[in-house]
Amino acid sequence: MKFADITGHRSTIAALRDLVDTDRLPHAILLGGQEGIGKMRVARALVSYLYCMNRQGGDSCGKCPACLQNAHHNNPDVHYVFPRIGSDKKSTDTFIPQWNEFIDRHSFMPKEEWARAIEAGNTVPVIYRSDAAEISRTAALSSFAYRYKVYVIWLPEKMQPQCSNALLKLLEEPFPNTVFIFVSDEPGKLLPTIFSRLQRFNMKPLSDAEVTEVLTGEGVPFPEAQEVASLAEGNMIKAFDMAGEGGEIREFSSIFIRMMRLAYARNAAALRMLADSVAAMGREKTARFLAYCSRMTRESFIFNLHDPGLNAMTRSEADFNVRFSPFINYRNVERIMAEIQRAHDDVLRNANAKLVLFDFLLKVMMQLRK
Ligand SMILES: [Zn+2]
Repeated sequence: MKFADITGHRSTIAALRDLVDTDRLPHAILLGGQEGIGKMRVARALVSYLYCMNRQGGDSCGKCPACLQNAHHNNPDVHYVFPRIGSDKKSTDTFIPQWNEFIDRHSFMPKEEWARAIEAGNTVPVIYRSDAAEISRTAALSSFAYRYKVYVIWLPEKMQPQCSNALLKLLEEPFPNTVFIFVSDEPGKLLPTIFSRLQRFNMKPLSDAEVTEVLTGEGVPFPEAQEVASLAEGNMIKAFDMAGEGGEIREFSSIFIRMMRLAYARNAAALRMLADSVAAMGREKTARFLAYCSRMTRESFIFNLHDPGLNAMTRSEADFNVRFSPFINYRNVERIMAEIQRAHDDVLRNANAKLVLFDFLLKVMMQLRK
């Protein structure tokens, strides 16, 4: 992983690069921010940069022995610590094969995927006291091949209290040339005594344009990527969940099209059933669906202006809009948008989602013939 592989986070990267270049990298840093923004990607690029024997243009070279070792997860001086199952008796080493595969395949670090990879079932993975003991043991040894020894600790908020206390000792009396990189989704949950010893970098959610860039880089077609980005809240884990075959956007698109057809046909009985099935998706997902409706209504209205540059739709949505868009017009667009917003807010406010949706669909039905 190089800095060049990372979308966004330019100021964090510039600051980290500068600390390495000027030999001032502190012995403990914290990369904190919401999940799915690529904090671990930045940590890995930093590790590569720190070890690279032939840094070029402010980035690691990707070719020297150190870069190759880091890329293949066999740098003996780099250690990853992560939440796991199996109690104090089991060693983190047991999970290294799954870990290496996980960070390569899921570099935005979805926690649920990790729990699946280690077959956690209903057990909540944590970082055990023995993991801190293992850090103390290896940190006391001299490094194998390089000047630095690095510990990347993923989700330090999952440390057991005894683990935090043991680690705190290490942070209070650091070993020379030993660097701790804490990668945290919830820095506020760290022990304050640990938190205060870390040089902190608060990383922001990705912008919609950055999410779009990552998705298109993964082969998601542009209009769909843009649409997913508008709903993903800067979180690539959400974005990947929504994009692609069987993704949420396809599902929403087909529900929206069905909904509008039924509303236009004034089929109230079928709309009632549709309201029930949408409500069954759960509150959060229903709210995301309504956000999608809001966007599609806007797209339909704009479609009437016959300027393709203004629209951002997938092919199937555009096909539908050729026939549908005349029914969303200046006489009803504001009213429909307001109803969507109200339904969205009511659903999130714990109102009965089935009733809210049915009421909303009836209002859309009345508006469509205006
Ligand atoms: Zn290199």
